[in-house]
Amino acid sequence: MHNPGQNPSRTNRFTTRSIGSSHENRPLLLHETPAFASAPGGTLLIGGMHGDERATILTLLSFQDRLQRSGRVSESAPALGILPLANPDGYLHNTRYNARGVDLNRNFETGWSPESEEPSGAAPWSEPESRALRDLILQQRPGRIVTLHWALAELDADGPQSTPLALAMWNSLTEAERAPYRLRVSESEAVFPSPAECPGSLGQWCGTGLHYPDGSAPAIVTLELPYDPALPRPSALPGDHLARLRYAWKQDARGYLSAVEGPVHKMLWAAC
Ligand SMILES: [Zn+2]
Repeated sequence: MHNPGQNPSRTNRFTTRSIGSSHENRPLLLHETPAFASAPGGTLLIGGMHGDERATILTLLSFQDRLQRSGRVSESAPALGILPLANPDGYLHNTRYNARGVDLNRNFETGWSPESEEPSGAAPWSEPESRALRDLILQQRPGRIVTLHWALAELDADGPQSTPLALAMWNSLTEAERAPYRLRVSESEAVFPSPAECPGSLGQWCGTGLHYPDGSAPAIVTLELPYDPALPRPSALPGDHLARLRYAWKQDARGYLSAVEGPVHKMLWAAC
């Protein structure tokens, strides 16, 4: 991937552009390396689709910062795009939804349902944030997409083409680092639910609905951050797990982040 003809001072940084605007007119900012911008097939990392899942945004920003400071961007020039905050209005209002009360991760076309458990919008693609993400993916055609969420404590691969990506991420971790997670790939019928748990999600669309003009489909992994980074993942999360997480986050967000960041960064690097 390294192109020795490129000036390191130019490649050792991300450039930032807006891929669209939220309902309340906030920019959707993509940070990209020159290699990501110049050709299809790169890796796209997405956080903050649910605006109150702060840990997803912060771990992506610290990953980007670490890459830049370590010089890894210039060494291997990964084709990497990072959209740390896909739902800036939700972030500002500290809510899962966008400013119109829609769960963006139910607003994608594949499997979209008006009777989704979460508000899915008036129609597929009814929201400016999901349309901006769709257009970015159709124009840029990333080969690998990792979308971060909080906190079902798993790696969830949609579509058989996503299994190698999920395994590469999983195999980048030590056994101890894997303990707070579980791995869900489509070949493993024992753990893969049918029908889809998240109709109209980005994972559903990319993993099973989307095909690029050449017939290929992107690999996509939904990386759900740990429920409790200090403990092995329970086979069933408690019914009030989100309330418990929010409480723990309020008490010690820094402690949670420092426990998850190292392994998450390893998995993200494995996806590049
Ligand atoms: Zn989420």
